Amino acid sequence: MGEFELIRRYFTRPTPKAVLGVGDDCALLQAPPGVQTAIASDMLVAGRHFFPDVAPRTLGHKALAVNLSDLAACGATPEAFTLALALPQADEAWLQAFSEGLLALADAYGCELIGGDTTQGPLTICITVFGEVPRGQALLRSGAQVGDDVFVSGTLGDARLALEARRGTVVVPEPALPAACQRMDLPTPRIELGQSLRGIAHAAADISDGLAGDLGHILQQSGVGATLHAPMLSRLMLVNRLGWQPPPQQQLEWVLSGGDDYELVFTAPPEARAVVQAAGLACGVAITRIGQIDAEPGLRVLDAAGQPVEAQWKAFDHFAAP
Ligand code: ADP
Ligand code: MG
Repeated sequence: MGEFELIRRYFTRPTPKAVLGVGDDCALLQAPPGVQTAIASDMLVAGRHFFPDVAPRTLGHKALAVNLSDLAACGATPEAFTLALALPQADEAWLQAFSEGLLALADAYGCELIGGDTTQGPLTICITVFGEVPRGQALLRSGAQVGDDVFVSGTLGDARLALEARRGTVVVPEPALPAACQRMDLPTPRIELGQSLRGIAHAAADISDGLAGDLGHILQQSGVGATLHAPMLSRLMLVNRLGWQPPPQQQLEWVLSGGDDYELVFTAPPEARAVVQAAGLACGVAITRIGQIDAEPGLRVLDAAGQPVEAQWKAFDHFAAP
């Protein structure tokens, strides 16, 4: 199977929304008037972002999910994506499963594969997504205001737990282990939630590098700080709900800086609390209020008695000094 047969067989599909899809030098999209195009790219490198032996179907899902998560954070509606793929070899069974995982998620959100590039090389997947948002309504990191509540969607820390279990640093019993692995392998982009937070949230980001780091971006770009409440953070892992409690300090660190969660962290004024909860309910995802925005820069975490908690919450950084 040559390069063009590979593209035709696994990555060429009808694209009713796009003006032009796979096959020419460029794809063509037509944005309606009054709409802005939201664009995001995420790259996944074998051995860096995933274990090289990961199930290809799962990898296809995750490669697109992490990109859709960025659109969700902006409140954008997915429209199309491109796929740049480096493959060690053209393994048909692998390509079949990978493309099925990828395209099933794409179909679920009406996100059309409109082009890409295919080359031989160490397994690397780079996706660029294109979304639409009504002009001026994108959720930004820079809009948080003093007095806002801070919210997160869903559960945090479980992907990190699954990673630690895989590394052998922690032993996790059933049924907590498969649930945590599911969180690591098959994240759910919070597209519907992002869309329904337009006009409600002041600022939003998706949590890919850990809550502390990604909320940190909001704080920095908004010129504010935040105080979080440890008792609210300590109930955020999915495995808690399945009857397994990690050591409290470790749990706090995984929730704050585990990463790979693909949930949303956002801020909204206190008068929006009921609307925020209703949005979560309508989208089928739990929303937890974890603290508030204040004027003093930086991130603080307080315990039940209001005392500062000492916790490590370094965000993941590919180029951090060792
Ligand atoms: P060019 O050489 O002009 O860049 P290519 O020969 O690389 O184009 O690709 C041919 C067509 O196939 C283009 O429309 C390109 O967007 C598409 N394409 C290549 N690789 C992929 C892929 N992995 N997924 C989807 N479309 C792809
Ligand atoms: Mg090319």
